[in-house]
Amino acid sequence: GEKKSLNFIEVAVENDLKEGKNGGRIQTRFPPEPNGYLHIGHAKAICMDFGIAQKYNGVCNLRFDDTNPVKEDVEYVDAIKEDIEWLGYKWGNIYYASDYFQQLWDFAVKLIKEGKAYIDEQSAEDIAKQKGTPTQPGINSPYRDRPIEENLELFQKMNTGEVPEGAMVLRAKIDMANSNMHFRDPIMYRIINHPHHRTGTTWKAYPMYDFAHGQSDYFEGVTHSICTLEFEVHRPLYNYYIDLLKKDDNYSPRQMEFNRLNLTYTVMSKRKLLALVKEGLVTGWDDPRMPTICGYRRRGYSPESIHKFIDKIGYTKYDGIIDVSLLESAVREDLNARSTRVSAVINPVKCIITNYPEGLVEEMEAINNPEDPNSASHTIEFSRELYIEREDFMEDAPKKYFRMTPGQEVRLKNAYIVKCTGCKKNAEGEIEEVYCEYDMNTKSGMPDSNRKVKGTLHWVSAAHSIPAEVRLYDRLFKVENPALEEKDGNFRDLLNPDSLKVLTNCRVEKFLAEMKPLDYLQFQRIGYFNIDKDSTPNKLIFNRTVSLKDTWSK
Ligand code: ATP
Ligand code: MG
Ligand code: MG
Repeated sequence: GEKKSLNFIEVAVENDLKEGKNGGRIQTRFPPEPNGYLHIGHAKAICMDFGIAQKYNGVCNLRFDDTNPVKEDVEYVDAIKEDIEWLGYKWGNIYYASDYFQQLWDFAVKLIKEGKAYIDEQSAEDIAKQKGTPTQPGINSPYRDRPIEENLELFQKMNTGEVPEGAMVLRAKIDMANSNMHFRDPIMYRIINHPHHRTGTTWKAYPMYDFAHGQSDYFEGVTHSICTLEFEVHRPLYNYYIDLLKKDDNYSPRQMEFNRLNLTYTVMSKRKLLALVKEGLVTGWDDPRMPTICGYRRRGYSPESIHKFIDKIGYTKYDGIIDVSLLESAVREDLNARSTRVSAVINPVKCIITNYPEGLVEEMEAINNPEDPNSASHTIEFSRELYIEREDFMEDAPKKYFRMTPGQEVRLKNAYIVKCTGCKKNAEGEIEEVYCEYDMNTKSGMPDSNRKVKGTLHWVSAAHSIPAEVRLYDRLFKVENPALEEKDGNFRDLLNPDSLKVLTNCRVEKFLAEMKPLDYLQFQRIGYFNIDKDSTPNKLIFNRTVSLKDTWSK
């Protein structure tokens, strides 16, 4: 196949391998915080973390970064596993940062004993005020030189419940004048009085991200700790703690950063996605309008289409925002290759073939996927009374209207060529029935079927089709970059009020009654669809995954 050039992380990893670093071992991790469902940005990180391990015969572990008990839950843990598996990856082990609480505690005690950490009793505001600015040094805390014995005693108290939340924190004693703000005596531990979903009430003092992440990597033997660009400025602190921790000069994990994925017309922060769910602005984390992995799955995206998209956008060192049409073109490309072609009429009008025998039913052959030479086919019933799309008939049509209009021939897909003869309207002038005549020698496969006609229409038999609901989705937000345009943090005002359109009056061919949510379908001439999880045999419901063409670009 085509040889792809390496991304900059792969180049660095190959270089480390060449130099024999860490004994030629490759170990990565994907470290989600279980405080929400995974979104497409996480998919980009997953493809990197698992992809590197796969490519270089290493292992990628799943580590739940569960150091904040307030927002975390087992529901999220389970959903995260399901989504990673759906993307096609297998982790080596499952770890929890909370499994290292004792080791981290012991390390913190060691740093206190070495005079490298102290208990600060100032308020969060005062600590923030003393931080300084990137161009101005900070101010030392009045508690900075507290005796070691007192620090040890207070640190124990932070974890017994004797000390209220916010009353004290443990800080690293590094350098309040360092040009890297993260070195200005960063907080290592704070008190949180909330039971943890795994450790219960054992702990009251919890480590901060910066004091947990690198050490967790080290405890596990991670060789390449790949994360997003916002952690680049944390890297010196990551290395600082690891250097104090490490015992073996032949091993240390290496942090590397790539650009986050941002997509137009959506938001990618778990906090905002959670707000949409909690406030009922969407139907749940798996609402097909959400940028979550479960949302895309429910909407009919294939895992392959997400991989295609991630491959297209690549990994760089520059943050930006990716046009969602790139994701849509990836899913179109993928579903074009794998979807089953079916007939569905989403805005039906009756069409009567006046010269077709009453009571006659023909089984027409429909190839499931013309893109696949080994494709099977299914049958679709044809009869005198059909449904066609309302938009496919016009009484007075302009010149280039190659659909049904009196006097003009069109081909009915997999059936006959018919000539439109007229229509019937109700008192309001609305079209009630369309009439045409068929040419019995033009059935698919017969010689006369090769006659040149410009338009081909889809249809279903009125008596043999089944009713269905179709849900058409549009962009969740009406502006390109909601994160940038929101005023006073109110991104809710920017929601697209027309992001969901429900059509309740559709007719689909019978074959669709047997479909399952993960079957990929193309409603011919309309778009890619799948069956929704709300669908029942008595009430079929379909989601539009994506339209056939990009209707947004001209
Ligand atoms: P959020 O800002 O939505 O809360 P997060 O980064 O806090 O996201 P985590 O659960 O900590 O979410 O993320 C796990 C991993 O996924 C991290 O390594 C993080 O860098 C990566 N990740 C999160 N969001 C994106 C994104 N938009 N693009 C690429 N990687 C991402
Ligand atoms: Mg995080
Ligand atoms: Mg977060």
